[in-house]
Amino acid sequence: MSDYDIVVLGGGPGGYAAALYAGSAGLRVAMIESTTVGGCCLNRGCIPAKALLQTAEVFRTATGAATFGIVPDAEVRFRPDWPTVSTRTTGIIDRLVGGLSGLLKRRKVEIISGKGRLTPDGAVAVDGSRLTGGGIIIATGSAPKNIPGFDVDGELIVTSDHSTRSPKLPGRVAVIGGGVIGAEFASVYTDVGVDTTLLEALPGGVLPLGPDQELARILARALAGRGTKIHAEARVSPPERSADGLVVAFETPKGTEKIEVDQVLVAIGRRPVSEDIGLAEAGVTVSERGFVEVDPATMVTSRPGVYAIGDVVDTPGLAHVAYAEAIVAVQAILGEHPVPVDYTRVPWVVYTHPEVAWAGLTEAEAKAAGHEVQVHKYKFAANGRAMIIGDTEGLVKVVAQKDGPILGVHIVGPWASELLAENYLAVNWEALPGEVGAFIHPHPSLSEAVGETMLALTGRALHG
Ligand code: NAD
Repeated sequence: MSDYDIVVLGGGPGGYAAALYAGSAGLRVAMIESTTVGGCCLNRGCIPAKALLQTAEVFRTATGAATFGIVPDAEVRFRPDWPTVSTRTTGIIDRLVGGLSGLLKRRKVEIISGKGRLTPDGAVAVDGSRLTGGGIIIATGSAPKNIPGFDVDGELIVTSDHSTRSPKLPGRVAVIGGGVIGAEFASVYTDVGVDTTLLEALPGGVLPLGPDQELARILARALAGRGTKIHAEARVSPPERSADGLVVAFETPKGTEKIEVDQVLVAIGRRPVSEDIGLAEAGVTVSERGFVEVDPATMVTSRPGVYAIGDVVDTPGLAHVAYAEAIVAVQAILGEHPVPVDYTRVPWVVYTHPEVAWAGLTEAEAKAAGHEVQVHKYKFAANGRAMIIGDTEGLVKVVAQKDGPILGVHIVGPWASELLAENYLAVNWEALPGEVGAFIHPHPSLSEAVGETMLALTGRALHG
């Protein structure tokens, strides 16, 4: 008999979700983690990054208070106090790590501290002990990628691992990569007054992969309008030290430029952490790019009994996708018939200002897939609640099959992150626009922008 029903390698969103879910099913679970439970997302990724974005939001609100008729008695100048920002962020992380540890304990998950490794016979070795499990789940996550010649030292050249937890704010920063991380940091830094340059290799400059490019352009325009210097199609050379910081040279179709900055943030993507954990010896197939290969119906790897979930698998690198994959893997281990994750319709949220959120096919993807599409857009500029909160930039764009179901919903604008939930459901439920439009959206609310768009797709409209 095995020591445990499930042994989980890694305590990030994938690993801890698998442990919690298995614990709630009454299974005996061991979770091996070499650092802190919560993984990258909780300790140096999603959670601290969103705390910094909220700080930027408060700064914008405070500095823009006069627009709402709130004025100070004497002249007041707000400035970011980054050590306090950092302490607040750490406080949030500590509360979440504490809560998670308590929850794991209540589910009777045994947390084993150390670096685990698969053994050729399908057990897990950790610090000289050997653990066996009815199922093994690999959830070792990912780490920031680097560019050859960039010496990441955590001070001058950093990754999001450093920037999310730094008590120091750079005066001038070059963000390399205009993807999700680059865009979110450009948004934070620009809003708190950092001289921010964004250098992206692909055309477009901001979120060139992923969202409907109409949304990406709206975000790029908003960032540029607030002061982010965006350079698309940029080929960046390794930075050189100068008396006052770093000199970054880059080439774009417009020519070669050099800028001086205090810090370079490398945000060019993440790589799976799949080395040195015994995968090949245990017969687990890993792709050329280092991802563990799985059958997405069950998340089982090429070795029966061994499963893989989260960023170590080549699926969208999102904590909530890892949660969903954890449930699939545990249900498969239990011999149930899990509903696999539909990767074409997962929810995506970029927490920039304005926020960008989407689920399902973009207009271009829908057309490329051969659908005859019907598209309607509704601008937040026409929405009463958006005017009231003073945040009218952006739109809701719904892509539907002509006389058929909703294929994709794309939102850029205020609280797009929270507005997405209903739309995610609609896309995955394959609802008709008229069905969603028939439901009442409270007035005044930002969600009316969704209701109006859906109704307009029926050929009749109220305000849309
Ligand atoms: P990404 O893949 O989203 O973006 C990387 C960008 O860097 C791309 O646009 C790419 O073209 C560009 N790039 C690559 N090499 C370059 C170079 N040498 N010079 C200039 N540009 C270059 O990766 P990311 O932003 O690092 O994010 C990593 C992962 O973290 C993603 O999987 C993402 O989903 C996840 N993440 C998600 C969220 C969220 O959901 N809000 C937030 C942060 C991170």
